[in-house]
Amino acid sequence: MSDIFNLAKEYEYGSIHFKSCQKTGMQAIIAIHNTQLGPALGGCRFVAYDSTEDAIIDCLRLAQGMTYKAAMVNLPLGGGKSVIIKPKTPFSREAYMESFGEFVTSLGGSYITAMDSGTDLSDMDIIATKTNYIASKTTDFGDPSPHTADGVLAGIKAAVQFKLNRDNLSGLHMSIQGLGHVGLSLAKSLLKEGVKLTVADINIENCQTLKEGADVSIVPVTEIHKVHCDVFIPCALGGILTPESIAELNTHIIAGAANNQLIDNEAAYEVARRNILFTPDFVLNSGGLIFAAGKYLKQTDAKIEAHIQGIYDELLDVFSKAQQQQLPPSIYVTRLARERVGLLNNA
Ligand code: NAD
Repeated sequence: MSDIFNLAKEYEYGSIHFKSCQKTGMQAIIAIHNTQLGPALGGCRFVAYDSTEDAIIDCLRLAQGMTYKAAMVNLPLGGGKSVIIKPKTPFSREAYMESFGEFVTSLGGSYITAMDSGTDLSDMDIIATKTNYIASKTTDFGDPSPHTADGVLAGIKAAVQFKLNRDNLSGLHMSIQGLGHVGLSLAKSLLKEGVKLTVADINIENCQTLKEGADVSIVPVTEIHKVHCDVFIPCALGGILTPESIAELNTHIIAGAANNQLIDNEAAYEVARRNILFTPDFVLNSGGLIFAAGKYLKQTDAKIEAHIQGIYDELLDVFSKAQQQQLPPSIYVTRLARERVGLLNNA
């Protein structure tokens, strides 16, 4: 396993907290990347990992992304994330969530938790019995995913305006990888805008739900990134833009909710060389964070909605400034976010 302090140095931490609960068996990590702008808010993942190292690295990368995301959308928050490692043996979900809630409380408000992959609102309700530092609950907040989807829609419109010089989406062809919480909600909105869709999901039932009576084609998951389309929308996994997959793209724009889509910085340059506009994921998918943070900070619904729709202007500005500086948008925006939180610019 990599030296934990080397990892902390590489990702510029911050603090990394571990809990191994003797009573329940729960093992969790809370990574607080940067609190320059405020307490760290970020979701809690509950997924299985091949190794503890994989879990730590996932948590560190995601929390770093949350720092950039909060900074770019002007929230008074830092970047954090947590992971509860899903065991391969039987466990009590309720006891796990309670133990995790106590872990969050023990950090005294420097980390605020929320929903993420593998956790749902019923988990959040249990966690909330043990901590007040929580920004997703059935009663007060609800699922942030539809708000993420609203922000992605606003961002797709900005990308289409900038790249294709069009002020509406009607008649365009878009392909969506992953029809989960965000992808399905977004797909329904895109169909209302007159978009023709091609979709893929490892769970074929998700595709079939959408297909009934709609202008939708389904392709195998191995084919979705190759589809000839105007906008490719990754809404499943991170790390999908590799040298191999980029060579097979057949789109003008990439604009999806998945975190960390580009495998590395070189991938950002390669996408740009192929004359494809990449929409920086951590700005595009910030609607859920804006919603959860706005509710936690007791903002009005109107203010939160205006902030989410502001992703359109934010991205138009990012695209044009990146173009002026001859940088891929993701590189430009990472530099800007780092400046805003006082990190040295080596991106
Ligand atoms: P989700 O787990 O509900 O949905 C993911 C979907 O992708 C599932 O339907 C799954 O079956 C499918 N999938 C998995 N592997 C696939 C593959 N290889 N090919 C095609 N489909 C595949 O997750 P979500 O909440 O919809 O989030 C989607 C992405 O957006 C994630 O990367 C998440 O981190 C990111 N994100 C989500 C939010 C949010 O508010 N939910 C906010 C910001 C970022």
